[in-house]
Amino acid sequence: MIFKRKKIGVISLGCDKNRVDTEKMLAILGAENITSDISQAEIIIVNSCAFLESARKEALETVFDCNEYRRNGKLEKLVLTGCLPQKFIDEIYDELVEVDVFLGIADYELLPDAIELAYSGQRVNFVGKKDWVEKTERVVTTPLHYAYLKIADGCNNFCTYCLIPKIRGRYRSEKIETLVSEAESLGNISELILVAQDVTRYGVDLYGKPQIVPLIKELSKLENIQSIRLLYCYPDMITDELIEEIATNDKVVKYVDMPLQHADDTILKRMNRKGTASEYLDLIKKLRSKIPNIAIRSTFIAGFPGETDEHFANLLDFLKDARLTNAGFFAYSREEGTPSYNYDGQVDEDIKEERVKKLYAVQKHISRIYLQSFVGKTLEVLADGIDYDKQAFCGRAYLSAPEIDGVVYFNSNGEVCQGQRYLVKIEKADAYDLYGGVEDEFAE
Ligand code: SF4
Repeated sequence: MIFKRKKIGVISLGCDKNRVDTEKMLAILGAENITSDISQAEIIIVNSCAFLESARKEALETVFDCNEYRRNGKLEKLVLTGCLPQKFIDEIYDELVEVDVFLGIADYELLPDAIELAYSGQRVNFVGKKDWVEKTERVVTTPLHYAYLKIADGCNNFCTYCLIPKIRGRYRSEKIETLVSEAESLGNISELILVAQDVTRYGVDLYGKPQIVPLIKELSKLENIQSIRLLYCYPDMITDELIEEIATNDKVVKYVDMPLQHADDTILKRMNRKGTASEYLDLIKKLRSKIPNIAIRSTFIAGFPGETDEHFANLLDFLKDARLTNAGFFAYSREEGTPSYNYDGQVDEDIKEERVKKLYAVQKHISRIYLQSFVGKTLEVLADGIDYDKQAFCGRAYLSAPEIDGVVYFNSNGEVCQGQRYLVKIEKADAYDLYGGVEDEFAE
């Protein structure tokens, strides 16, 4: 096959779920062909995100930038995969003349055939040829001690602002045995991070009821997996059984990422989100009472259509009451094709931005106080690497997921190895990060 003789560069855009897809593509193509120097790649694959207008813009800019390597580099064939072609192939096929091959979210097992056809002179559109990826082999692109495990794809929640169900289709879980064997094949992993659009719904489609707890139990039996972290839990689906499992399973990190999106009941209804602000507060209380010291992170959208000053004030009050460990805030993005695109009461961009800033200011204060509470205490920290700017090692305690939360910067008199755990005495905190020194290497 021609692609086996070519250098291939891959650019993965968007979320960690997309990253897992990219890792499966790399395994299909063979790691030995992959180059990290895009200028030297003869084939470039852009795995795109299209969830928001800003993501689509980024994908298009990446395609145009890569196309420059036809003149300035070695590029022969440009491949566009993922969410952008999946949803918008009719709009982009004629426009994006730079692209030689289009593949959707589940078509990438056809990459070798598609590339072969492109080298025979054809322009290839394989979008929608397949609806599920059977391959589970991956070339992991995260630092070797942690990896994501995508346990399902698609979503049935139909939040009124979100394009994902239209791009990725209805919720579809991977079988427990397939996920266990995929996790086993990853090698020694200090932290396995479970991801899906909604992790808590795992298994409903296959087994008739949520199976996230049985899945966690099975993954916990694997000797190569030291710990398991859950991202993207839908509040309504955080059952007592799941709380009990997080509380009692030593391998499960005492951390929950639970996107709430808003905390005013009127806005939540307009968003088609289940639950109310008071139910969310009750859930947070329950999580804290059953799992002492649990870290709870969330995300919120400001400026949803119809959000008045009063609705926004309710969100601010909620934040002050909930006292979350960490939170991310986003200005509402008006996406054509979603129900809320046509809602009245669209909020001005500058008001949205101002509200996002206010939310960050409140959360910053809360996070600073929360992180200060660790000063003088010792935390178990998973070493991620070295931060040369800070002249310190960096790692994460249980309260931080990679890339979205703060880190622990620390010094050590002894050797520090990536992927090992250390006991770090915390000496200082700011609103985002902790600082300290190694007390002792954690006995693993
Ligand atoms: S839960 Fe809502 S926001 Fe998240 S992917 Fe599903 S529809 Fe989109």
